[in-house]
Amino acid sequence: MSLISNDNLKITLSNKDKSLVLVFHEDTNDHLYKCHANNISKMVKKLYKEELLKVYNEGSVYNIAQFYTMEQQARAQEAIRLHYAMDHPSDKSLSAALVSPSVINATITPLDLSNAKVMYGPCPDCLEGKPSRHKGMHHSWDPGGKATNLGQLLHVDIVFIAGKPRLFSVDDITGYIVMARMESKGQADVNNAIDAIV
Ligand SMILES: [Zn+2]
Repeated sequence: MSLISNDNLKITLSNKDKSLVLVFHEDTNDHLYKCHANNISKMVKKLYKEELLKVYNEGSVYNIAQFYTMEQQARAQEAIRLHYAMDHPSDKSLSAALVSPSVINATITPLDLSNAKVMYGPCPDCLEGKPSRHKGMHHSWDPGGKATNLGQLLHVDIVFIAGKPRLFSVDDITGYIVMARMESKGQADVNNAIDAIV
């Protein structure tokens, strides 16, 4: 909601649910309401932190703002989402995948992965050895049919890198990771990507 002060000198924008407040003061030279960029970037940082708190507990969200740029933080968080999307591969195998020639235009680098670890600490799920959280379609394979040969059971997921969908696959036995580029999330493109991987 927005509020104009009685003297018309400032406008307050606020979101009560997220307890965010931005105050714009009137510039007497051009009569525009202005807010310092630092205040906006502070608010964005706060939002990032709240998003992280949904995944990590309070204790592991460090006060990192002064050490990393916003872009580095955003990339580190993208790296974490990738780690989750791929069912928690080790940093070693994910790094190897990111620099492999089969990965086209990956904007997340091994550096982002290691930055993520410094910023947010180790993944709590991996740390506690909990089975990774399976959502939606992950259980679509026959639960009795454990893979015995490489290539027999592939875990696949669609992830977005730089706004473009990619089909990621991890081989159950070897942990070998392949990523294929897709034009869209449409059935035909997913089928083509699966053909390319297999
Ligand atoms: Zn993990």
